[in-house]
Amino acid sequence: MEHPENSDEYKGLTVNKGIEQPSSVNPYLRNGQFRRQSKLSVAEYVDGIVKGNVSVLGRAVTLVESLRPEDQVIAQEVIEKCLPYSGNSVRIGISGVPGAGKSTSIDAFGLHVLKDGGKLAVLAIDPSSERTKGSILGDKTRMERLSLHPSAFIRPSPSAGSLGGVARKTRETIVLWEAAGYDRIFVETVGVGQSETAVHSMVDFFLLIQLAGTGDELQGIKRGIMEMADGIIINKADGDNADKAELAARQFRNALHLFPAPESGWTPQVLTYSGFYDLRIKEVWDMVWAYIDFVKKNGYFDVRRNEQAKYWMYESINETLRSSFYNNGKIASLLEAKENLVLQGKLTSFVAARQLLDIYRESNTL
Ligand code: GDP
Repeated sequence: MEHPENSDEYKGLTVNKGIEQPSSVNPYLRNGQFRRQSKLSVAEYVDGIVKGNVSVLGRAVTLVESLRPEDQVIAQEVIEKCLPYSGNSVRIGISGVPGAGKSTSIDAFGLHVLKDGGKLAVLAIDPSSERTKGSILGDKTRMERLSLHPSAFIRPSPSAGSLGGVARKTRETIVLWEAAGYDRIFVETVGVGQSETAVHSMVDFFLLIQLAGTGDELQGIKRGIMEMADGIIINKADGDNADKAELAARQFRNALHLFPAPESGWTPQVLTYSGFYDLRIKEVWDMVWAYIDFVKKNGYFDVRRNEQAKYWMYESINETLRSSFYNNGKIASLLEAKENLVLQGKLTSFVAARQLLDIYRESNTL
């Protein structure tokens, strides 16, 4: 029926018919055409990654981090197909105790290394994130400026599994980031122990952030961690702390003399800087690039990467065997009983281990 206001009496006024209201439910969602989490094929993952599609890349990284065996099968295929596109980056490990200024420094370092273009991925290995859930390395707001940079991507630590497992996942995701064109990779870790070894085994340069001002700088610093460092940088060299930082730098230089010469032929350097006030950031990075030039010329860059490839092959075997053993149903059902027998002194550790391994072997050959 015609609206009464369209009659001649109301000439000049028109009332439109109106349109049918659309459903509030997205029709594509309803019929499944537009489900964001629809599974991609291996080829779609690889294609998206190589084209630098950040959303596909993020999903692929999630797949690598997934503990589900069916996800792992796809993830491994994606990694393999991405391998030919990877390797073309500089990988930097950044370590320091909590409070040393890692986040603040990475924010400043990231902006510095992106000045001349390129793409940066900041990854993390945080063995504590499983326990603390809210990972201290997971919070994007820690790197305020960098997290807004269009060419930077900050990814929190994979949080599930053993340190070996978490580190392996990070190592694997490096392949994906590189295939997506990220030519600078930062791998951050908390400087409190084992995780440095894992990071050291996947980076070209290991940067150790230290602090001055405690009066006993060299105490409590594990010799092994210092030995791994290609560069030691003393942060917070600003204001009243500047002199103390210089003093600490001298002490570190002296301490480094006592260590055997590194295989790279490079003498690790000690610098002071301030991440917060952006002081001498350039010097830090001139050192890193000088190292990369040096080891590319003398061949050590490739030697180190080959060594790392070997290390990860064995790590991968160990990790796979380990999880296959502990996830074996028979083993899982017997483990506690055997452990109790050992605790009660009724069985030696070695015999218990042998028996369990025999059972595992048998169950695998059935
Ligand atoms: P992280 O735990 O190693 O990631 O350390 P943060 O980056 O969170 O820094 C810990 C604290 O040190 C924060 O309060 C920072 O503001 C402060 N800080 C970091 N870098 C500097 C610096 O260069 N100078 C000064 N004075 N403070 C800094």
